[in-house]
Amino acid sequence: MNLTDLSTVRHVMERFGISTKKKYGQNFLINAAIPERIAEEGTGGDACGVLEIGPGIGTLTTALAKRVKKVVAVEIDDGLIPVLDYTLAEFDNVTVIHGDILKTPLLPLLREHFADCEEVYVCANLPYYITSDIIMYLVESQLPFRALTVMVQKEFADRIVAQPGSKEYGAVSAAVQYYGKAQKLFKVAPGNFLPAPKVDSAVLRIDLYREKPVQPKHEVLFRYIIRLAFEQRRKTLLNALAGKVSVTKQELTEILIDLSLPADVRGERLSLAQFAEIADRIGQRF
Ligand code: SAM
Repeated sequence: MNLTDLSTVRHVMERFGISTKKKYGQNFLINAAIPERIAEEGTGGDACGVLEIGPGIGTLTTALAKRVKKVVAVEIDDGLIPVLDYTLAEFDNVTVIHGDILKTPLLPLLREHFADCEEVYVCANLPYYITSDIIMYLVESQLPFRALTVMVQKEFADRIVAQPGSKEYGAVSAAVQYYGKAQKLFKVAPGNFLPAPKVDSAVLRIDLYREKPVQPKHEVLFRYIIRLAFEQRRKTLLNALAGKVSVTKQELTEILIDLSLPADVRGERLSLAQFAEIADRIGQRF
């Protein structure tokens, strides 16, 4: 079944009496080249497993199932479960789980379904209303996913890959880049979806680190400092942190001087390694 063919999509939707639901961020892919490319560039061959988030009517799922050992697809919309039974009937390597990915415990899922896979990847055309929550849920799980390859809003992809000093660099860039190396694979125009979203999209690949290049001694403090630094990004780092961490403004200034940073530096200029250094020094002075 060609699930990117518009008349097939309409036939499937009519047969099951469904329409796309905005509240679940449903924009189905209708250009076959895109799921094929996500599956090709986002997985690692026929010995690997893939966790898919939000299979919709099974378009990307089909492209994945043809390439990899096993696909587990978590879908929140109960109306799509019988549809997926129908559209994916020919694949015996796909398991559909009805649930909210943000409430799905991932470790038991990995143990139950992917124990015999060499590596596990995540692939998805994500619902845009919770993109950032889903990505953080996956990376913070610290589970051994090899890479996440996900369709997101283009503007969000730009923020994830942004480097210090650029206007897109922010808390979410730093948070994601702490866990993995992010790259933008390709852009996708609205006309490739049903219905067409109002924004451009892009496919992002995040290769998760086995060993993180930046290893702060005080991880909680490190994350807290990054959050404070970007909460009020117009403020200097000194003013953003003053009164909110356990050292005085004077001591903070000394830390910055020690690290050869100007006293008026803003968080948006700092690399993860510099944030880690600052957190380590503040942590030492407890
Ligand atoms: N993969 C399909 C495709 O590419 O055509 C559909 C992608 S659509 C953008 C997003 C999908 O995620 C929908 O099927 C939606 O119902 C599902 N979804 C939304 N929120 C979810 C959640 N919290 N957990 C699991 N699936 C979710």
